[in-house]
Amino acid sequence: MHISHLSLTNFRNYSNLDLVLPPHITVLQGDNAQGKSNLLEAIYLLATSRSYRVTNERELINWSALQDELPVCRLVADIQKTSGNLSLEIALMNKIVAPGEAKDAFLRGRSPSKPATTHKRIRVNGVVRRAIDLVGQINVVPFSVQDINIIGGEPALRRRYLDIANSQLDPHYLRQLQRYHRVLWQRNRLLRQIAEHQANVDELSFWDQELVQAGSYLIVQRDLMVAALEQLAQDIHGELSSEQGRLTLAYLRNIDKERGKGDSQIEETAQVFARSLDAARNKEIAQGVSLVGPHRDDLRFLADDVDMGIFGSRGQQRAIALSLKLAEANFMLSKTGEHPILLLDDVLSELDSRRRSHLLQSVARYQQVLMTATELDHFDADFLKQAVLLGVAQGRIQPLTS
Ligand code: ATP
Ligand code: MG
Repeated sequence: MHISHLSLTNFRNYSNLDLVLPPHITVLQGDNAQGKSNLLEAIYLLATSRSYRVTNERELINWSALQDELPVCRLVADIQKTSGNLSLEIALMNKIVAPGEAKDAFLRGRSPSKPATTHKRIRVNGVVRRAIDLVGQINVVPFSVQDINIIGGEPALRRRYLDIANSQLDPHYLRQLQRYHRVLWQRNRLLRQIAEHQANVDELSFWDQELVQAGSYLIVQRDLMVAALEQLAQDIHGELSSEQGRLTLAYLRNIDKERGKGDSQIEETAQVFARSLDAARNKEIAQGVSLVGPHRDDLRFLADDVDMGIFGSRGQQRAIALSLKLAEANFMLSKTGEHPILLLDDVLSELDSRRRSHLLQSVARYQQVLMTATELDHFDADFLKQAVLLGVAQGRIQPLTS
């Protein structure tokens, strides 16, 4: 699949962008703070309905537009897929902002005195749809220098990584994920009420069942994806850094920590989950929080059985992160039959020349790749010959004439 046309209105530092995108490789070059990452973020948003950087969607709306009576930020993309053409639109509307104070309050990190709510409207082929219907229409694999945190950072980052990748491929996964978080929230509230003698222990059983049903699906799907990613990442990692040992991935289920590798079956998983909940009940009530389930799972990366999240050097972690992302792209292609769109934000500068040329070779196999860079030095001439070069400056994009 590829995006043939992208238009942005009042998105970040783009007040008005109308961009025709070629299939294959586009290199976006520009100085710092010109809008390179913002452009990739826009595409990521169209794919996942979420930004990878902010929690407050108001930050996506152009500052100067925030002073308008009814600020509207709009992203529209035309996509060509083998299954047919597609148009996607996201509009963000910010309601009730006193003129003049929006940007000031925003920059000081405060909300304006009249609180504004951001309303998101999504259209797929012109028809208003829910966010859940948008996700998966186009698949993207984002690469950034922060990917290294997937290997060495908090477990929550790894769960989020697996959740986003799975949600892009499986709408049912996203529904179960949302359900799981709703249930978790309710169940935690109930546990606190039980601890304070304001609710009865019997009330837990309904929420336990809900938690087990939604959670088992998440566990099994994550487990399956990790097994598939491991296979693909092993080969890639071998080519990238054969000297660093054989890469293995371990999905650690919190419902049965001692469990070795094996096929996760949904029924077996649900039974184990239910038993673990029973065993943890008193502890959960005492602490007033759900201690068992996929919200406590982790994913570990091992090279010759050494945990690279803990002992890996930055270079080793970076090579694993890169292998993982390339594996993910490969996995998406094999699952859907469509090429995912690769978004590479400034990743070349961090790599040595061997990894750089390996990465360039690997991404060139995909139908559409968008890469940002401050300098073109890191690209080899042959690669640049295949690419369309665009210059990004102050929220405007123009063909680069070298
Ligand atoms: P770098 O090379 O440093 O990564 P970049 O080209 O990727 O730079 P972006 O992250 O895309 O830069 O940001 C470009 C500019 O957009 C920044 O100066 C940022 O402050 C600005 N910006 C971010 N959000 C908004 C917004 N809501 N309205 C207007 N400008 C914004
Ligand atoms: Mg950037």
